[in-house]
Amino acid sequence: MALSTAQTGESMHSSTFASRYVRTALPRFRIPEQSIPKDAAYQIINDELMLDGNPRLNLASFVTTWMEPECDKLMMAAINKNYVDMDEYPVTTELQNRCVNMIAHLFNAPIGDDETAVGVGTVGSSEAIMLAGLAFKRKWQNRRKAEGKPYDKPNIVTGANVCWEKFARYFEVELKEVKLTEGYYVMNPEKAVEMVDENTICVAAILGSTLTGEFEDVKLLNDLLVAKNAETGWDTPIHVDAASGGFIAPFIYPDLEWDFRLPLVKSINVSGHKYGLVYAGVGWVIWRNKEDLPEELIFHINYLGADQPTFTLNFSKGSNQIIAQYYQLIRLGFEGYKDIMQNCRDNATVLREGIEKTGYFDVVSKDSGVPLVAFSLKDSSRYTVFEVAESLRRFGWIVPAYTMPADAEHVAVMRVVIREDFSRGLAERLIADLTKTMADMDAHAGKKAVAAEPAKKTVREIEKEVTTYWRRLVAGKKSSLNFEFGFPFGLDRFVYGRLCQLPTIC
Ligand SMILES: *Cc1c(COP(=O)(O)O)cnc(C)c1O
Repeated sequence: MALSTAQTGESMHSSTFASRYVRTALPRFRIPEQSIPKDAAYQIINDELMLDGNPRLNLASFVTTWMEPECDKLMMAAINKNYVDMDEYPVTTELQNRCVNMIAHLFNAPIGDDETAVGVGTVGSSEAIMLAGLAFKRKWQNRRKAEGKPYDKPNIVTGANVCWEKFARYFEVELKEVKLTEGYYVMNPEKAVEMVDENTICVAAILGSTLTGEFEDVKLLNDLLVAKNAETGWDTPIHVDAASGGFIAPFIYPDLEWDFRLPLVKSINVSGHKYGLVYAGVGWVIWRNKEDLPEELIFHINYLGADQPTFTLNFSKGSNQIIAQYYQLIRLGFEGYKDIMQNCRDNATVLREGIEKTGYFDVVSKDSGVPLVAFSLKDSSRYTVFEVAESLRRFGWIVPAYTMPADAEHVAVMRVVIREDFSRGLAERLIADLTKTMADMDAHAGKKAVAAEPAKKTVREIEKEVTTYWRRLVAGKKSSLNFEFGFPFGLDRFVYGRLCQLPTIC
């Protein structure tokens, strides 16, 4: 949560090293009165940041944590370039346009030889989704207005996806969510199409579930929706949130039809900073045609020079992620991306097999899709995935544990995302550490169990006996008064004595 909230407690902080340069502690929430030397500032901040997790061991995130030094160099050189100064930095603007076109072609956008693609670079898929959603909402409203129909109750149909929740709330669109069920963690296209009505601005599919990596069946969704549109006369389109899958499917599942090959897919977003292999801060949204992005949403900035069309929720931002995306696209090319994605998939297989071999877990992610391994405990009666995740931290690994969304929330899983920098060696290391962790958990739970077992069993027995006794008593069955204990509970010394021997009660 980036929103800053006031915290009680220490309002000052200082650093051992910094005491060489500064004698007084720094205020935590107020700007200090005096300056401090630059090396002191560096040391203080650097020290505090040491306590952050190591990004390379952060297996929770899809976001890139390693790039080649050459690209780091380009990024550092561009760190002072404002992306919106398009007239001053025409080359940066040109590179972003090349990226848009390369990605649009990768997604099979129907672009004529003399045409350029329609799309923009964003801060990430989240901004891309807001923009795509806005375009759908505006297009739907325009059509409804033209037909003389009410246009104040737009809705969007989607599976479980936090980004659309945000869009729905910010832009006042009703969210119609297709619920998940245990064992089926993606949007069911049939259920989704059933939920579509005349107010539906679009159905949003996900290519690469955040939870299990699974690809939703966009082709089936397209076919069902084509039929429904023909039947109803509506024109409900599809958006594909390909945040992680957009840079995977084209390379290793080229025959999978999920993109602009499907006629109802009108826009697609992808995170450049996930499998586009760029550090955090870049995403893309591509529209099928010019007609799919209403003209009135485009701002023409005539800022310090030539006309530049923009569609964005931000204004100023850095240029370096765009430059880095261009670097990756031309440096790797189709074959380079393909090799990396295949390698990630192979490493995911090694990890999945290793995790299965421990015998403790059920793997809930699928073999195809985004390379990740999501797994749940076969037996969570003695400890939970949350405790296992906590225990793994000892080795430095950051593995998230979470429950599935509504209607499958009783399933708790851990998830490891395989990124380019998660090598085979690291996968093997993680398996070894997980195996050690499980042995420790068992030993620990074993001790607890030995101490608690006789007590637990007796308590349950006694509870059952007491309940049975009271039931019969309340039912007025006098004959049961002598049942089992012979005396009403509380007067029975034997039972009382037994209860008192139990460590958990007395
Ligand atoms: C990561 C992700 C997002 C959010 O993307 P950002 O690029 O981090 O803003 C949205 N949808 C899905 C399916 C994702 O995996």
